[in-house]
Amino acid sequence: LASRELKKEDTVISIGPVKIGGNRIVVIAGPCAVESREQIIASALAAKEAGAVMLRGGAFKPRTSPYSFQGLGREGLEYLREAGDLTGMPVVTEVVAPGDALMMKDYIDVYQIGARNMQNFELLKTVGSMGMPVILKRGLSATIEEWLMAAEYLLASGTEDVILCERGIRTYEPYTRNTLDLSAIPVIKKLSHLPVIVDPSHATGIRDKVSPMALAGAAAGANGLIIEMHTDPDHAMSDGPQSLYPEQLEKLICDIEALAPVL
Ligand code: PEP
Ligand code: MN
Repeated sequence: LASRELKKEDTVISIGPVKIGGNRIVVIAGPCAVESREQIIASALAAKEAGAVMLRGGAFKPRTSPYSFQGLGREGLEYLREAGDLTGMPVVTEVVAPGDALMMKDYIDVYQIGARNMQNFELLKTVGSMGMPVILKRGLSATIEEWLMAAEYLLASGTEDVILCERGIRTYEPYTRNTLDLSAIPVIKKLSHLPVIVDPSHATGIRDKVSPMALAGAAAGANGLIIEMHTDPDHAMSDGPQSLYPEQLEKLICDIEALAPVL
């Protein structure tokens, strides 16, 4: 179902007023995690002001250490929804457990399947069956073929709206958090009709490397970008070092506009 052979024209996914998959670049921005009602509302206002059209924010955080902040859970979803409604932006958040999927439907516009769960097939089947748009991140060491098969699980379970997200893969290079596989973008475009977006934040892990790689992703043909931005990154509860300041996001979106129209 994900294959270009089966469907020749690009899939365009409508999420409220936002369309992902056309020739415009959709910028999704927000903090790694929803930390408080005030924080996500301030983030949403700043993201919108900078030119983003969709809000991100994790309520369930799959952290490497069990002692790190795990997210606000359902309370976080409530604040995220409120911030999205206040600014007129659709919201995306990660789902980590099949048992949460139905409950989350009332709060969100797009599910995110995180890199660590790309091959959690039971999660894919349950989330796919919700019939809602899904951003599917590439697994840390997944091949493009495995990634497309994970998309196939979602599509076979009942959703037509899958957005692939290249977020960097594990390589031998430790300088950056991951290595952004830019060539995956044209490869996916050839193999699949699905939209593909780039996450330069998790791909690099370093604030000043985010904008160059975001621009590179846009130049390589990505349909959108998902970028971590925090109003006070030095005190962020997760991923502060890779989070842009709002002013940096605004400048980045202006720079992207030189490459392609930004929605
Ligand atoms: C995230 O988007 O905050 C996240 C955890 O991303 P990934 O699954 O790509 O690591
Ligand atoms: Mn993060």
